[in-house]
Amino acid sequence: MRLLIFLGLLILLYYLVKGWISPSKSRQTDRNEGEWELESEMVKDPHCQTYIPKNSAIRARIAGRDYYFCSRQCMKKFKREMEENSV
Ligand SMILES: [Zn+2]
Repeated sequence: MRLLIFLGLLILLYYLVKGWISPSKSRQTDRNEGEWELESEMVKDPHCQTYIPKNSAIRARIAGRDYYFCSRQCMKKFKREMEENSV
């Protein structure tokens, strides 16, 4: 009889611990995924047509518009092309 109570308590404890760990864990991962999605907004490099995450892209304002580039080389080449086209 005592053993049954002990087992019942053990099972109760197991579910308490399990319930305590898993919801907080999943909530945390959900939040992290949301943050990751926000940070990894993709922008297109107009020079080489590559998609790069906005936070690691190089931003440049050319002719009143914001452009995002994967590298400084692309930015320079695009700027030069824009200047050549406008002249
Ligand atoms: Zn590029």
